[in-house]
Amino acid sequence: MKRFVYADNAATTQISDPVLGAMLPYLKEHYGNPSSIYSLGRDARRAIETARQKTAAALNASPAEIYFTGSGTEADNWALKSTLEVLLPKGKNHIITTNFEHHAILHTCKHLERQGCKVTYLPVNQEGYVTPEQVKAAITPETALVTIMYANNEIGTIQPIPEIGKVCREAGVLFHTDAVQAVGNVPIDVEAQCIDMLSLSGHKIHAPKGVGALYVRKGIRMVNLLDGGAQERNHRGGTENLTSLVGLGTAMENACAGIPERAARVARLRDRLIDGILSEIPCSRLNGGREQRLPGNVNISFEAVEGEALLLRLDMNGICGSSGSACTSGSLDPSHVLMAIGLPHEIAHGSLRLSLNEYNTDEDVDYILQTLPGVIQYLRAMSPLWKPREA
Ligand SMILES: *Cc1c(COP(=O)(O)O)cnc(C)c1O
Repeated sequence: MKRFVYADNAATTQISDPVLGAMLPYLKEHYGNPSSIYSLGRDARRAIETARQKTAAALNASPAEIYFTGSGTEADNWALKSTLEVLLPKGKNHIITTNFEHHAILHTCKHLERQGCKVTYLPVNQEGYVTPEQVKAAITPETALVTIMYANNEIGTIQPIPEIGKVCREAGVLFHTDAVQAVGNVPIDVEAQCIDMLSLSGHKIHAPKGVGALYVRKGIRMVNLLDGGAQERNHRGGTENLTSLVGLGTAMENACAGIPERAARVARLRDRLIDGILSEIPCSRLNGGREQRLPGNVNISFEAVEGEALLLRLDMNGICGSSGSACTSGSLDPSHVLMAIGLPHEIAHGSLRLSLNEYNTDEDVDYILQTLPGVIQYLRAMSPLWKPREA
């Protein structure tokens, strides 16, 4: 029987019932401008500051260290561009990052290179990890910022962020992490983990799309992102996205409570899915290491399969997944993440990411395991690249 299985939670998530419930009043009766003086406006202001407190508490930060943004991408851009603008006049023009960051980081680095900055793109190993030793060796007196993602969005590998934070702190270099995929999956404590700046996004944790936040440690100077009104402590003018910020606060509170139990539950589904696929489908391989891995991330390559064709066949069967393959992204190059871990082009093109969360069930995993082998067999039967071999 056909089911609908949403297994693309790394792309976006559904708004949860508690988040929706918290937001609804602010779409209708509580419509005040947070900057207005009368009680309707003051109520709105209070709601935003409550969301800020919840976001801060979830990271062990203080509310004054949280800036709300319009997305995770915006938080990433702001962290990098502001830091370099502040530190360039002090002779610091060097950034250290990895070669498998999200494009919000990589393309911002490219932009900064065109402005005269130097960027070191640390290679990750074949399992998809970077080490604190690599970071330490790359730091120079010119280094302004180290930016390394907490967890990779394609292959789910979790980086040794506390250890990297310590290296940066000891060297006196600012440390930013794109934690969009990690929030809600890994316990985050910006104090204990020596994180100076951190980006997060609402729609990956059951809040609406188009809202995010940047944590900035107290004392770090920020260049205004948007000149205008006094919102976000004068740094990002524009009337706040009240409803979505209320949603983000609730989502942060829920995402960062009970992580170990939720992660264990999702990881069990993930492991069933990985083991089932690898044992049922010949010539398949898992991308990214198994140990330090996001609880919901499955990323598997299939020889002689084209990723986009695979996604379309899965969609016909009611399964939503994603691929590191070409066309949809408007480019012929396969995913830079899969290239970074050393996959050959033709293998990278046949990759499938299934990202689970706490809304997925054993029945979802059963259904994927029933459906996927037949889809792969069908595609391989049509592929000129597929050479059937003995099992
Ligand atoms: C989704 C994602 C982003 C971008 O967040 P948006 O809110 O969609 O702009 C940045 N980094 C990572 C790792 C992501 O997964």
